[in-house]
Amino acid sequence: MAAAMQPLQGVKGMNDILPPESAAWEWFEDVVRRLMRRYGYRNVRTPIVEPTALFVRGLGEVTDIVEKEMYSFEDSMNGDRLTLRPEGTAGIVRAVIEHNALYNGPLRVWTLGPMFRHERPQKGRYRQFHQLDAEALGHAGPDVDAELILLLRALWRELGLVEGRDVSLEINSLGQPDERARHREALIAHFQAHEGVLDADARRRLHSNPLRILDSKNPAMQPLIEAAPRLADYLGDASRAHFDALKAALDAAGLPYRVNPRLVRGMDYYTLTVFEWVTPHLGAQGTVCGGGRYDRLIEQLGGKPAPGVGFGLGIERLLLLLQELGLRPPEDAPHAYAVVPDAASLPRVLPVIETLRAAGVDVLMHAGGGSMKSQFKRADASGARHALIFGPDELARGEVAVKALRDAAAPQAARPLDGAAQWAAELLRT
Ligand code: ATP
Ligand code: MG
Repeated sequence: MAAAMQPLQGVKGMNDILPPESAAWEWFEDVVRRLMRRYGYRNVRTPIVEPTALFVRGLGEVTDIVEKEMYSFEDSMNGDRLTLRPEGTAGIVRAVIEHNALYNGPLRVWTLGPMFRHERPQKGRYRQFHQLDAEALGHAGPDVDAELILLLRALWRELGLVEGRDVSLEINSLGQPDERARHREALIAHFQAHEGVLDADARRRLHSNPLRILDSKNPAMQPLIEAAPRLADYLGDASRAHFDALKAALDAAGLPYRVNPRLVRGMDYYTLTVFEWVTPHLGAQGTVCGGGRYDRLIEQLGGKPAPGVGFGLGIERLLLLLQELGLRPPEDAPHAYAVVPDAASLPRVLPVIETLRAAGVDVLMHAGGGSMKSQFKRADASGARHALIFGPDELARGEVAVKALRDAAAPQAARPLDGAAQWAAELLRT
């Protein structure tokens, strides 16, 4: 006899989503689908695997993601260099270019699915996680920038979150590449003038990505960081006007925000508008959603120059937040539980259940036999409002007994097996 086999386990940092937890996912997805239609965003689905070069070119080489978080591998069949997508924008932009999808004008699209980053797993941070992505391509903004942000406010409201309390908006403008370049030179000069205060990390980043020195948590460097030149002072008229118009649109919509000059975001491709929705409830993983404008990305990936703006929303973090605040999906218990004491009666029972289901009644059918008592226990546990009892006596009379499970006082009623479509509605009503 072989020894009992050890059960296999899933990959670390990659989660299974089982019932009842999956109900919150379905709730979120239903709300998203409705909302995207309301705002004119259409669904796209792109592969989970893309050529590694897409992310290196799209995100920039000196980013956390490209430097140390990508699942990259060689396809052993043909030697292709491939990567499990770490984010959604690059793949969507690739697809839009490849299929010339902007030919007929601008495009608003959304998608939802798994992303992969090799990070240290912890609450709100996983190696496979899920994002909702929305992208508006071919619009220069700032009107669509504002619309995207308001779409997110609408999403929070649908889910029961209160903006400004549960989730708050932070915005900034990153200007254009030439404005950033001048700011970058000023930053380097500033940090170089105080080289003695720089820690090893900062010295390493000084010439590769001095902006990231601004993110340093080292207390000894905070005064130097505070005194650093601000990008806002390097923005030209057009960039400033774009940002002012965005702020005016948000003001007009009554949406409060905080201008955070430190908000830079991880990817190189952003221009002008950047934003994040943050929550105080998730500790260090407090950013639920981040986005911004990427007017150079399409060209950078080989397409005809066109602007774009979008966001990525971390679904696990959002669902954790909902859970933390006790916000749950609307009840999804079945309308009825079918008690079938005698498995041999199935040929008479099944057509009735199918008729009810065709009329829109959610029926959970007891399968596998067992005593009445055990079947009623299952019926109660299912949360169903009604039990449909297909007992031998009922069947002999050509009937099924309908019993209210949550109202002990309600009388049991007999209904004809034939013509279930006529009484289906009463199961939906209560
Ligand atoms: P962080 O600073 O928390 O690492 P990020 O800037 O890397 O976030 P983005 O690339 O902007 O994140 O991705 C958009 C959203 O996706 C984040 O705001 C977050 O909600 C979610 N997210 C990012 N990385 C993870 C992860 N490893 N696990 C779960 N959710 C994630
Ligand atoms: Mg990250």
